[in-house]
Amino acid sequence: MSNRTFTIIKPDSVRKGNFGKIVSRLEAEGFRILSLKKVNLSTKQAEAFYGVHRERPFFPDLVRYMTSGTVYVAALEKENAVLALRTLMGATDPSKADAGTIRKEFGESIEQNAIHGSDSDDNAKIEIGFFFAESELM
Ligand code: ATP
Ligand code: MG
Repeated sequence: MSNRTFTIIKPDSVRKGNFGKIVSRLEAEGFRILSLKKVNLSTKQAEAFYGVHRERPFFPDLVRYMTSGTVYVAALEKENAVLALRTLMGATDPSKADAGTIRKEFGESIEQNAIHGSDSDDNAKIEIGFFFAESELM
């Protein structure tokens, strides 16, 4: 089990001024921020990042949404980080997310769901590498 995961504070969260509140939740749950940056994803970046969903009907909308505004990307550290973040985020669809989860509190819809978290240790490594050099993680 790796102690790293990767998150995106998605455009709806940044637009609504929820960036700080979400970071507070992460810190309160014991995540350490190894590195954080503010990014406007290009269409190419969003398509590559969500490449596994390329054939899904929602893919074009997803890319449009993820490029619709500023996001924050971060590498996080905590014991059993991937599972801990997925639990804190809640279900993909905020209306189905457990009470107290970030998506329940801040998510808008199954698409505009506030936050991304890696779904496996392997993907966490790939996704961190997508945005950060190892030397930036401290
Ligand atoms: P993420 O990968 O962003 O952490 P997730 O792992 O819970 O979320 P995925 O199945 O990987 O969900 O879907 C990636 C993203 O695509 C979702 O977070 C959401 O923004 C969007 N999405 C997923 N399913 C749908 C859907 N049925 N309709 C519209 N958008 C969707
Ligand atoms: Mg996913």
